[in-house]
Amino acid sequence: MDHPAFEKLSLLLNKLPNVGKKSAQKLALNLMLQKDDLLPLLQEQLILLKDTIKTCHLCGNLSESDPCSICANPTRSKKTLCLVKDLADLYALEKTNLFEGKYFILSGLLSARTQITPETLGLDRLKNRITTEKIEELLFALPMTLEGKTTAHYIQNECPNLTYTELAHGIPIGGDLEYLDEGTIAEAFRSRKSI
Ligand SMILES: [Zn+2]
Repeated sequence: MDHPAFEKLSLLLNKLPNVGKKSAQKLALNLMLQKDDLLPLLQEQLILLKDTIKTCHLCGNLSESDPCSICANPTRSKKTLCLVKDLADLYALEKTNLFEGKYFILSGLLSARTQITPETLGLDRLKNRITTEKIEELLFALPMTLEGKTTAHYIQNECPNLTYTELAHGIPIGGDLEYLDEGTIAEAFRSRKSI
């Protein structure tokens, strides 16, 4: 199709996770067909999103305010900090409504493959938070992979004299939290164990 704008949009949509080349083209075609109704609304919403979303300087969550609504919520416990690998996992845990503490999104997991080093984990921010908020427990909600385990172990050593727990059974090896149903996550939360 000789249509540069369409081609460009398809390429952009193709950059989204789980959107293959064909799906991207289908979506772009659909948007083009709805150029007078859906497209202007989408355009408006995308601009609004871009202008209002901020990164919370405390936990790394994306929100319309900084600190985010979770960090700023005075009714949430300050004692426990739940460590997750990314925003999608934070949302997956938050959906269960079972955790009353606060979160910290790591800047990555320790890995030789992706070259994430202790310096790039966001450890300084984490240590700072533990001190200023008098955190007592670190709850590791990281993948049960070598990288997840190595990262948890490393953080434990770097942030001593706290209580350390992890989500219990139910999280499959290498399984991302975001793909699990809420019941499974809830069960893993309820039976969290010390490490
Ligand atoms: Zn926050």
